[in-house]
Amino acid sequence: MALVVQKYGGTSMGSIERIQNVARRVAKTYDDGNDVVVIVSAMAGETNKLVALANEMCEFPSEREYDVLVAAGEQVSIALLSMGLQSMGYKAKSYLGHQIPIYTDNAFSKARIEEIEDKKIREDLKNGTIIVVAGFQGVDREGNVTTMGRGGSDTSAVAVAAALKADVCEIYTDVDGVYTTDPRIVPEASKIEKISYDEMLEMASLGAKVLQIRSVEFAKKYGVVVHVRSSFNDNPGTLVMKEDADMETVLVSGITYNKDEAKISMMRVPDKPGIASQLFSPLTEANITVDMIIQNVSNEGYTDMTFTVPRTDFKKALKIVQDTAGKIGAGGVISDESIAKVSIVGVGMRSHSGIASKMFQTLSQEGINIQMISTSEIKVSCVISAKYTELAVRVLHEAFGLSAGDAKAE
Ligand code: ASP
Ligand code: MG
Repeated sequence: MALVVQKYGGTSMGSIERIQNVARRVAKTYDDGNDVVVIVSAMAGETNKLVALANEMCEFPSEREYDVLVAAGEQVSIALLSMGLQSMGYKAKSYLGHQIPIYTDNAFSKARIEEIEDKKIREDLKNGTIIVVAGFQGVDREGNVTTMGRGGSDTSAVAVAAALKADVCEIYTDVDGVYTTDPRIVPEASKIEKISYDEMLEMASLGAKVLQIRSVEFAKKYGVVVHVRSSFNDNPGTLVMKEDADMETVLVSGITYNKDEAKISMMRVPDKPGIASQLFSPLTEANITVDMIIQNVSNEGYTDMTFTVPRTDFKKALKIVQDTAGKIGAGGVISDESIAKVSIVGVGMRSHSGIASKMFQTLSQEGINIQMISTSEIKVSCVISAKYTELAVRVLHEAFGLSAGDAKAE
């Protein structure tokens, strides 16, 4: 008998019929002889509605009340799922975060899980009850309701699985798993059978939106095997797990893109100690996260600095950088909002050479100019003009043999 943690996202819980479908899946897992703990999100669209209500009520809602409000969606879905299971003749019981309790820090709207008590869950499981837990929410040590950031139910599920030492954590969503790239751009994209935590972290932060990044960090830290799969069919999904020897034989596991950044360059910056700090500190103070940074070699005592910021912060960032440029006597500021970052990800890069140059060559064959490059051990990212995003993704997917049916290892 295994202990299975399942998480169902908003789309899977999107209507009464869909919740009934979830109830049948949960019941089947139970009937197969497993203990089952289910984590659910709010019904599709509900959290957005609550966020909109908060913004309608006032411009700057208090963080505490914001969390009380946005946590409400999950209260509805846990009760409905429990009712569904009960009406099918199963013992089921719903729990809000604070009833478990799932303890978090007090960083409202982005709280981190600190500890999960398993006493009540274990007792209920012992008498054959299916447990239904509200995702996304917890409670701080003072008893305030907290939430864990949009998409936070994934993290709730992985954390509960870790706390209970579950045998598996299944994340049910509306796609079959993690794909080699966005199937809307490349219809031949194939489902990845298994992917390492580190690759999944890169893919998630680079724009593949299947799992909340924090849930992957959590899974990695506690060694939770996460199975991402669809609640609408029985296809096996993608296993997110510890790296194994096969994974290294695949050169590139996935191609991601991100159109959410903008580029700013400060030209002819006097090249002396302290300049980078003077440039970036005001951005940090304004809570703007800088992603890629390139500093040119010094030329006659001057250098150029180019970096990217989230497009939503672009105007604010540009203004700050223009002010700084005046103060430090830089030559000028130029910017570009229509850029995209295209990346290749794979643990195979650690042990194979020539992958980056193949990427550059593939882009150049299409006449795509590379504006910036950054690399990590398992990823290469290029900033290009946004209008070439789809083309770049398609040719890279092809070049690295990722289309369904292609032999993947070389
Ligand atoms: N309901 C929350 C959201 O929409 C949490 C989740 O779905 O994971 O972000
Ligand atoms: Mg989600």
